[in-house]
Order: sequence, then C-alpha cells, then structure tokens
Amino acid sequence: MSVVVLTNDDGVHAPGLAALEKALAELGEVYVVAPEREQSACGHALTLHRPLRPLRLSERRFSVNGTPSDCVNLAVLGFLPETPVLVVSGINHGANLGDDVTYSGTVAAAMEGTILGVPSIAVSLVDGGDFETAGRVARLVAMRVLVGGLPGNTLLNVNVPSQPPRGLRMTRLGHRVYKEKIVEQADPRGRSHYWLGGGEARWDDLEGTDMGAVHDGYVSLTPLHLDLTNHRALAQLGDWQGGLNAQLLNETRRSPRAGAAPKRKPRSG
Ligand code: MN
Repeated sequence: MSVVVLTNDDGVHAPGLAALEKALAELGEVYVVAPEREQSACGHALTLHRPLRPLRLSERRFSVNGTPSDCVNLAVLGFLPETPVLVVSGINHGANLGDDVTYSGTVAAAMEGTILGVPSIAVSLVDGGDFETAGRVARLVAMRVLVGGLPGNTLLNVNVPSQPPRGLRMTRLGHRVYKEKIVEQADPRGRSHYWLGGGEARWDDLEGTDMGAVHDGYVSLTPLHLDLTNHRALAQLGDWQGGLNAQLLNETRRSPRAGAAPKRKPRSG
C-alpha cells in the first residue's frame, strides 16, 4: 500500500489531526509525522540549528520537536520506509484564507511537500465547524488527487465552512484588509506591550475568492503555486533594467575598489 503522510501545525495531539487520520485511514499506509506542540503561524520555518528527534507514539505516529515543514522534510526525505504519494496537512483549527496563507504552518507543510515533489493538500476548518465533516471533504479531495494528480508545482488549499457545506467552489485567494494596526496595552508595571492580530478581519472583493466561498457556506478549493513572481509587474517594470544597469555600472566604475587587484596575504616563511 502507498504511504500517505499527515502533518499539521496545531501539534500531534490536536483533534483536527485525529479527525484527518480517521477520515483518510483507508487511503493507504497512513503515517502521522507532526510537531510535538502547537506551531500555528510559524509559516515556512525550518529547523537547521539543532537536531530533530522524532518520538514514536505508536506504530505509525511520530511527534517531532520541530515545525510542520521539518516534519514533511523528514517524512519525504527518508525517515519513512517509502516515499509518500501524498502529503495532507491539517485539519487546521481555524481558516487559512487569502493573504493569511503566507503565515500558515498548515499551508507551509503542503508547500514543502510540493517543493519535494509530492502532491500535497492543506485542509483548514473555520472556527466552530465540525471536524468529521471536514474529514469527509479531505477524503474526497485526497482521493481525487491520488487518482488524477495535481498540476506541477501546485498545492491545494482547502477551507471548510463552519456550517454544513452547501457545495464546493474552486476559488482564488482573497485579499485581506487590515483595519486595526496594533493593540497597545500597559502591563501591571505601566510598561507598554503590543498585540498583533487584534481587530476584525475585513476582506476586499469577495467574488470568486476563497473567503467569498466560505462566507457563502461553500467549501473553498484554491490551487496555489510556489512561483511568487508577479509576472504582470515583471512586464511593467521591464524598462527598469536598462536605467538601473547603467547607474550600477557607472557607480561600480567610480568605486575605489572597482578593478583593484585582490589584496595578497603576506607570505610567511
Ligand atoms: Mn494551526
């Protein structure tokens, strides 16, 4: 049977992950490789300066002292007996929509899987929703991916609404408007401290977006790719190259270091 890897950013003991494990149990040899503690909003962080030590919790469940992306690296690059055919990250406790996907450890894990060449899905559930329902959605999408694959360099970001879904919509990422800046408070000693993420999220132009779908009670399915290049801007800014190049080369020519021979180390002996 093919190996399927599950991970998340809410930690190995999160109910969302357990629901995912239950829902996908029959899709293959399902392994859980997940962070030992909550890593929400850790983004795409990798642990490079200390060792990762997976701890076996049961036959196919491991906790790791690292991030979701660490877990996917371990799982795909040789820790498991076979290279997985699918990575599923979630079910996240809370939505991952629009611009917020860039902070999400859940989505980052699916990005990591995609970078490593394994079809990957991120699944998130709006607060207050039902994990069993989200699990059924995850199974449906996972089966479709296992059968048909995904376009190259593409992961699927799935968001399940809090009420029973009215259906499913293919969507694009929405754009979040930040109204509140930061919340300033004073601690008991009168010193200021600040909270990020306060205030209500507002969204621009819901039509066709992930946020719009979830807002209308639909499951949102957004294909994301890893090419962050703004191709329109690349065309718009095409004429920068000539001007900046001339300036750069001019400055380099004037710089005293330019053209100087590299300093020789004095020889000893
Ligand atoms: Mn989370």
